[in-house]
Amino acid sequence: SGSVPSNIEIARGAKLLPIGEVARSMGIEREELIEPYGEGVGKIKLEAMEELGGRPRARYVLVSAITPTPLGEGKTTTTVGLGQAFSHIGRRATIAIRQASMGPAFGIKGGAAGGGYSQVVPMERLNLHLTGDLHAVTEAHNMLSAMLDNHLYQGNSLGIDPHSISWRRVMDVNDRSLRNIVIGLGGRVDGIPRQSGFDITAASEVMAILALCTSLEDLRERLGRIVVGVDKEGRPVSAEDLKAAGAMAVILKEAVKPNLMQTLEGTPALVHAGPFGNIATGNSSVVADLIGIHCGDYLITEAGFGADMGAERFFNIKCRISGLKPDAAVVVSTVRALKAHSGRYQIKAGAPLPEELLKENPEDVLLGAENLKKQLENIKLHGVPAVVAINAFPTDHPSEHRAIEEVAREAGARAAVCHHFLKGGKGAVELAEALEETIEEEERSREGSTSSFRFLYPLDAPLKQKIETIATEVYGAQGVEYDQEAARQLEEYEKAGFGRLPVCIAKTHLSISSDPALKGAPRGWKLPVREVRASVGAGFIYPICGQMRTMPGLSAHPAAEGIDLDEAGNVVGLF
Ligand code: ADP
Ligand code: MG
Repeated sequence: SGSVPSNIEIARGAKLLPIGEVARSMGIEREELIEPYGEGVGKIKLEAMEELGGRPRARYVLVSAITPTPLGEGKTTTTVGLGQAFSHIGRRATIAIRQASMGPAFGIKGGAAGGGYSQVVPMERLNLHLTGDLHAVTEAHNMLSAMLDNHLYQGNSLGIDPHSISWRRVMDVNDRSLRNIVIGLGGRVDGIPRQSGFDITAASEVMAILALCTSLEDLRERLGRIVVGVDKEGRPVSAEDLKAAGAMAVILKEAVKPNLMQTLEGTPALVHAGPFGNIATGNSSVVADLIGIHCGDYLITEAGFGADMGAERFFNIKCRISGLKPDAAVVVSTVRALKAHSGRYQIKAGAPLPEELLKENPEDVLLGAENLKKQLENIKLHGVPAVVAINAFPTDHPSEHRAIEEVAREAGARAAVCHHFLKGGKGAVELAEALEETIEEEERSREGSTSSFRFLYPLDAPLKQKIETIATEVYGAQGVEYDQEAARQLEEYEKAGFGRLPVCIAKTHLSISSDPALKGAPRGWKLPVREVRASVGAGFIYPICGQMRTMPGLSAHPAAEGIDLDEAGNVVGLF
């Protein structure tokens, strides 16, 4: 569509409201609560949580989706468009999204600020350093790494078994050659040689902690609980044992404040924390939501990947910590992605779309809609009503939209075709209305009794039972198979007292199953658990089911090759 300006061109044309004005529009009147960070960006002091605490609670809406394809389904774009749409029907909304990781920005093209006329601005700031939170996470993480290796060098009084060390180093660059390295080479004063490696900053447990902590004190305590390895007797060694957690908290004390930005239409946007969606929660921060929940009629937040991944963690990990109860969820779907889920097309990231995929074909949409049906069920398993957002593309056919509407109706969910990418907020008014009707209908049916939201499993269930519940109920697996090593680790974690933590299953996001090649809603398979790891500080156990990359690589022609500054100093080539 050559007539539509690029995301960055649209974003650059935006008229920014002063950030104090954005804050006032969400009811944050006291100027001292906002710390300005350049044009259109500010941080909100955590005091705001308490100051706003007595105000009415906004309706809490999660934006999730069908299983992702390389085509992009538009969750962030829909989150932004929906937030903007509410002002067109006289409601005040705030959105809350994750902060971007810079590695992918220079690797595979694709920003984290939404798209078209539904973007958070200034988008270069969002996609690049913003307020330096990722830098702080990197520094805090690597401070612990340095203190750990120094502890070994200085005589290892804690008796840490060097082979048990799982704490690596992080940086925010896609660099495959740092995945596996040897550190401590050189002479006697250059440290103890051992094998280690780098992950991308978003994969750091410190990032997960930033996303899940509820206050500065809670951040400090969670940092202390990080387990880096075990001692010679097999007892966990923590960041507290290494006396590193205090310094880490100091490094993170600004990063813990949510960033405030705005959409192209001036809707307040909280942009805070960006944990990996595979091995961590893939959700923005708890503190941002604890503030945003008192700032208007609606708080809309996005969870990463499909509903089996981000939404399941949102419900069972994030909401358990925040204590907030979601009122509804939006499940974003597109015609092209549902066609891809029919399994009848070969789609590769970066390659041009197959011609076939763009031809009118409601039958293939219906085939692929098995995935949509299962993801709607995954929302309903948690007692939360769902609405289907049909994110429209110019290549869609009306018959294909009707097919999705039919599937939604059969599943008992409202659906709305949305044009917010091309039209901004007014293009998503129908979605906003469908959402409000759904929530009000739900409220009427409850007649004043409490929310029907429920967790999928109780925390006091054994770890194996929690894994099996998610595998069978959410993923549709027949059961779970544990490698011997995984079974042993689970037993050890139960013994070490970590059995009451929730689980965050690390699996592919490209299928509801653990096999990325299986499309739709696969049945009759078993979830293979190869290994189990613990993020004790963040507060979850993560079983590994398949190959998980925690440090991406670059392609033959990374996006970085096309990114530059023009004569006026503007960023060009970034999305
Ligand atoms: P997600 O959050 O699900 O990963 P995004 O909202 O970031 O998806 O969108 C992925 C990409 O698709 C972005 O580059 C965005 O600009 C583009 N996109 C989203 N919706 C549309 C649409 N309706 N038409 C054209 N491009 C879109
Ligand atoms: Mg997104």
